[in-house]
Amino acid sequence: MRIPRSPLAAAFVVAALISPIIPVAAQDDIPSLAPAIGPWLGAPRGTITQLAALEGEIVVDFTVSDRDSATRIDYEILVDGRRAASGRTLRPDEVGEAVGVTRSLQLTPGLHEICIRLEDRRLGTRTVDCQRGTTAPPDRVTSSLADGATGAVVAPSGVVVPVTGGTPGDWRITTPCGAPATLSAGSFVPRARVVIDPGHGGSESGAWGQGIIEKDLNLVVSNLLVEELRSLGITAELTRTADYRVPIRTRADIATALAPDVFISVHHNGGARRASSRPGTEVFYANGSAESERLARIMYEDMVDALDDFDVAWVSTVNEGASVRLRDDGMDLYGIHRFSPDVNSIITEFVYLSNPPEAALMLRPGMAQLEAEVIVDALLRWWWTDDAGTSLGRRFTDSSSTGTGGFDGCTDPSLTNPASLSIGRAQRLVEDLTAEPEAFVLLPALYLGTDPDLG
Ligand SMILES: [Zn+2]
Repeated sequence: MRIPRSPLAAAFVVAALISPIIPVAAQDDIPSLAPAIGPWLGAPRGTITQLAALEGEIVVDFTVSDRDSATRIDYEILVDGRRAASGRTLRPDEVGEAVGVTRSLQLTPGLHEICIRLEDRRLGTRTVDCQRGTTAPPDRVTSSLADGATGAVVAPSGVVVPVTGGTPGDWRITTPCGAPATLSAGSFVPRARVVIDPGHGGSESGAWGQGIIEKDLNLVVSNLLVEELRSLGITAELTRTADYRVPIRTRADIATALAPDVFISVHHNGGARRASSRPGTEVFYANGSAESERLARIMYEDMVDALDDFDVAWVSTVNEGASVRLRDDGMDLYGIHRFSPDVNSIITEFVYLSNPPEAALMLRPGMAQLEAEVIVDALLRWWWTDDAGTSLGRRFTDSSSTGTGGFDGCTDPSLTNPASLSIGRAQRLVEDLTAEPEAFVLLPALYLGTDPDLG
């Protein structure tokens, strides 16, 4: 079952549960999933394991198990509340063993809700799992970028490296610190629709506040983002997978090698002191790229909309909004844009980590998840609409930079040994930031609704 997507919706569901009479309006907000407890204990269970986004099509993989029997089980697949497919599983080899099912659904382009319903002879039919899925989003890649895609390899240690040549199993690659090398093991990724760049890493910490170091938070949000995109059936890869240094040039090379629709560098800001009545969110886009600009404007609008729900003493600078930042020579200041000129790229600065109230906000459970969902929702809006988005941004020249992100003093992480890599304090942050509030844990135990019959 999915957690309600916004804190507001979550609060509403929780309030509805605590209240002895559930308001009629609230019933729509309660997921129509009957958990396998109470009368449903022992009923067949099912889980959507993967949704793959193809053109005009979603491929659904799910597993079904019935711990009390080895018979075939009737299933239905609902799309947006209507029956789109039905069938019967194969017979499991043993009692209780899970059986996998793969079905391909021809659908109208866009977002859909996919649910699995299973038949139980004694109890009737119940919905066992639902997930949002999308057909393949419209391609926003230039042909020159697509033609030049060489792919990347996820090395055995988890480190992602761009491929420069060679043959499968004997790839020529560039290490994170920019050294040419060959790699004989790992999994090859020919392309990704989205490349996510967790800002900083290793000796480069970024901003900090309330005990959060930016590089850790960037990694936490980026991991949630990749998870969220993949659950929608959209391919996504990271430029950094643990706490190691990756110079900007390498990050851009990974993005170019994977020819994504968009390259998003996830950051959290530092430095502002000016009090503001609204969030000081900044999103930077690549100079001269209309699609980067449109995404940055949508992203800024969605981020500020989400943050405006919270009562926080915000800070900002004149650079708030979706902007282009140039060097004195008129080139993009940020290497993320400059080194991957054919890729739509943006840099997000959701909140000011250096401002204690904003850092404290990010420490609330569910906030990192909320940020990841806001970014995904903005991406979906960018793909599926022509919205222009709003922005306070501007075009400005400011060559001052922190001077980090280069190759000097860079030490490569191991490509072969996963145990040698640490994700730093990100793991503890994951536990702190993504822990479900206790009310959610109560949800299945309190909700005993039956599943309405579909006409
Ligand atoms: Zn940063």
